[in-house]
Amino acid sequence: MKIDWVIVGAGFTGATLAERIASQLDQKILLVERRNHIGGNSYDCYDKEGILIHKYGSHTFHTNSKLVWNYLSKFTEWRPYFHEVLVVVDGKKVPVPFNLNSIYALFPKEYAETLEKLLIQHFGFGTKVPILKLRESSSGDLSFLADYIYKKVFHKYTLKHWNLKPEELDPSVTARVPVHISRDNRYFQDTYQAIPIPSYESLFKRMLNHPNIKILLNTDYREIIDDVKFNRMIYTGPIDAFFDYKHGELPYRSLHFDFVTKNQEYFQEAGTINYPNEYDFTRILEQKHLTGQISPKTTITYVYPQDYLIGITDPYYPIPKKENRELYHQYLKEAEQIKDKVLFAGRLADYKYYNMDQAVARALNLFKEISGESKKDSSF
Ligand code: FAD
Ligand code: UDP
Repeated sequence: MKIDWVIVGAGFTGATLAERIASQLDQKILLVERRNHIGGNSYDCYDKEGILIHKYGSHTFHTNSKLVWNYLSKFTEWRPYFHEVLVVVDGKKVPVPFNLNSIYALFPKEYAETLEKLLIQHFGFGTKVPILKLRESSSGDLSFLADYIYKKVFHKYTLKHWNLKPEELDPSVTARVPVHISRDNRYFQDTYQAIPIPSYESLFKRMLNHPNIKILLNTDYREIIDDVKFNRMIYTGPIDAFFDYKHGELPYRSLHFDFVTKNQEYFQEAGTINYPNEYDFTRILEQKHLTGQISPKTTITYVYPQDYLIGITDPYYPIPKKENRELYHQYLKEAEQIKDKVLFAGRLADYKYYNMDQAVARALNLFKEISGESKKDSSF
């Protein structure tokens, strides 16, 4: 088979590009994936008890992009789902993003009313205030509240998850979960929020079901690349690995997941419960809340952060901070020099903390560039 493209990685980035190039440009693709399944970190599967689990942590789809929503909707039906998360503070489970309901649950009513008034006066009802910004407050009660939320919700969670303090990371990281001056307990406020039906795996299968796409699982692309004739490559793995770490290793953070099946219909009140201050794990996940599966049993996931060790643990999170971005830019310069042969995209290759919709949007944009080029080529 003549191959136009080798695509490395079958997550949302690789799958979107494979699907677009195969169906719109009628070019042939070899999609190479190191793992034994498609779907990247968004993969789900049934465990031995028959419960649909997310193998790499709960994945809640949410986006404001109509383009991304319409694109993925070609390959799946959806189950509407609004993610809610609770955080354990002094033994009480309260909504996070921390909001007015959290304040009323934790403080005496009169003091909660004072805090509510102050927050609305300073920031306005409905606004989202990153914790690091709230901590700039100088007024007595607001500054007390900021320190309280920082200490009880962010400080230890962030130390566990990243092995860094919140202020050692790019402010955009903790700003993902801002203090929300509202009574909306949803984790996200995006226009589109849903879970693919029947599963992420079937969404990926439908995307990749095209005669122009051949999939090679259980294979690191380096094992086969010298034996394959192809025109260009799209690489969605860690960018530093591609260049043999010549400028040094880019730091990533890893996780370990412990799955436990319980003989009860539901284990906890919400899909995710965060434990900033107790235990070594950060979260307990229960995917039945997301999937709506009916079963007398449930499977929960304990999420333990761990170091990323090349070849031993998986790189789940780029670590957003200045010096890492600078190192990434050295690799980006290398990438630009070979862009006629290899294109880089995705959470690991762009070294960006993308959500799924951002990974798809990035891939659709790259496809636009590729198809522009290919139109130019064919006009000669
Ligand atoms: P990936 O999904 O990581 O895919 C890259 C693929 O490349 C992997 O399968 C890898 O095995 C393969 N690969 C790498 N190197 C090689 C090689 N040398 N040879 C062959 N194959 C290779 N996003 C949301 O929108 N909502 C959520 O709720 C959410 N929850 C998340 C929870 C966790 C714990 C994590 C880690 C991420 C979460 N995300 C969530 C983000 C989401 O997983 C990513 O946005 C998405 O997976 C990015 O897709 P990708 O294709 O860029 O990368
Ligand atoms: N965070 C926290 N406490 C929480 C929730 C989030 O400290 O209860 C911080 C933490 O640094 C985390 C970041 O906010 O890594 C982003 O949270 P998000 O839920 O977006 O993380 P993800 O789902 O990507 O792991």
